[in-house]
Amino acid sequence: MKQQTGAAPPYSDAQLHALACIACGRDDVELIPAGYLLVENHPGQLLPWPVAVCPDHLGWEASC
Ligand SMILES: [Zn+2]
Repeated sequence: MKQQTGAAPPYSDAQLHALACIACGRDDVELIPAGYLLVENHPGQLLPWPVAVCPDHLGWEASC
């Protein structure tokens, strides 16, 4: 049984590749680039991922 606990980021691959809204996960709407989000892929290693938002979430800011 493989189960990750703790540090797994709460974002999907699509969200981390700017293919879905980073705030709500929608991918069937126009997506607007929203800068970069730092996600910890490995302990102590933060990588900046380009993310996008749907029109409903314009102004979204990474909260980290
Ligand atoms: Zn959204």
